[in-house]
Amino acid sequence: MRFTPTRAAGLAQLDAFNAGGAAHYGQRRNFDLGAKDHSNVSQLSPWIRHRLITEEQVLTRIAKTHDLTQMTSFVQEVFWRGYFKGALQHRPSIWDHYLAGVDRAHDAVGTLYADAICGRTGIACFDHWRDELVTTGYLHNHARMWFASIWIFTLRLPWELGADFFLTHLLDADPASNTLSWRWVGGLHTKGKTYLASAENIARFTDGRFNPVGQLALTAEPLVEPFEHPLVPLATPPRMPLDDALLVITKEDCTPRTFMTGDPRGLLGIVHPDTGMSADFSRGAVEQASADIVATHDWAGQIAEAANRAGTAQVVTAWAPVGPVASALATAQSTLRKEGITLSQGQRRFDGLTWPHATAGFFKLKKKIPQILRDLDLAKPPAN
Ligand SMILES: Cc1cc2nc3c(=O)[nH]c(=O)nc-3n(C[C@H](O)[C@H](O)[C@H](O)COP(=O)(O)OP(=O)(O)OC[C@H]3O[C@@H](n4cnc5c(N)ncnc54)[C@H](O)[C@@H]3O)c2cc1C
Repeated sequence: MRFTPTRAAGLAQLDAFNAGGAAHYGQRRNFDLGAKDHSNVSQLSPWIRHRLITEEQVLTRIAKTHDLTQMTSFVQEVFWRGYFKGALQHRPSIWDHYLAGVDRAHDAVGTLYADAICGRTGIACFDHWRDELVTTGYLHNHARMWFASIWIFTLRLPWELGADFFLTHLLDADPASNTLSWRWVGGLHTKGKTYLASAENIARFTDGRFNPVGQLALTAEPLVEPFEHPLVPLATPPRMPLDDALLVITKEDCTPRTFMTGDPRGLLGIVHPDTGMSADFSRGAVEQASADIVATHDWAGQIAEAANRAGTAQVVTAWAPVGPVASALATAQSTLRKEGITLSQGQRRFDGLTWPHATAGFFKLKKKIPQILRDLDLAKPPAN
């Protein structure tokens, strides 16, 4: 595996990017030059997604060697993750509808779906990206956009199945970024605005490696949903000291001690019992963060047992945004409550500053980035 699920490996990748591709990111980031050379982008997403390293740490290190005001496209990309998390947090029904859509679509799949997920469509670039995804767990952002567009508008397959395929294989598999990006390509996120992959654009930004002329749809009729997803107000999380508590670590945040204060009485990692490259990365990340003390089944039972062992009825974890971990924690929470155990989630400052601005399009958050950087004390030019 090219990506190792440790904080040290994430920091090493960050240093390599900082010393190399970062300087030309704005000009070169849209080129997908193939799995052997993605050095024009950071490839940090597997670590950031699991918060082995955080957005704030990435920006802090980059700011030491670069003037962030000259790195606007990179800074904005880093904020896109927070934007998507905040957007899904505000409209959680999107996640439930996506899950129902996957189930519905699975009942009606045919050979074209099998060809797509096995890389046998005959569209060379698409089949290549499928292979790269399945063998490395990573795809360049532009390749993800092209792949999703071809999936939806050329192959005319249900977007939910494509999103599900990505979630299974991406090491950075993220319910918010993935679901909302697929919806964005299909015209459901920014209503009526679709992303159409063209042969010309693919040829240009793959440096001529592919040119699927005559193979792609030439129009992209937006997908439609006959309802609005309601906007739900964000909860205000309390401050979360760790003293006297059991600290639970999930794949949503593998370094909670970088923002929670105090000494926990015990530590427990929890993961889903899934297998595959994406799940293996998550499990590795949680295992190294929780000293290998990991529960895979019956989260409520295992948390209660660990809390009893630690002699506490307080359980603390980092905030799990909308997705499978949040759902499983909500289920565990009601069982734990009956046993007199409190499970609380603490939120990072970065999320608290970012998510409230994700009620509409990215532009609203983009306008706030300079202020958020000042709030995080990141707006200074590099000291040299
Ligand atoms: C259809 C589709 C599905 C996607 N699914 C996921 C997913 O499951 N998980 C995921 O983390 N990203 C997803 N993305 C977003 C984006 O493609 C990846 O975050 C990015 O390509 C990661 O590579 P990188 O670290 O080299 O990015 P860089 O270009 O180096 O960007 C730096 C960091 O900024 C953030 N970032 C950059 N672009 C985006 C973006 N468009 N949206 C959100 N954050 C971004 C990431 O944390 C990334 O590590 C998806 C995009 C599309 C179009």
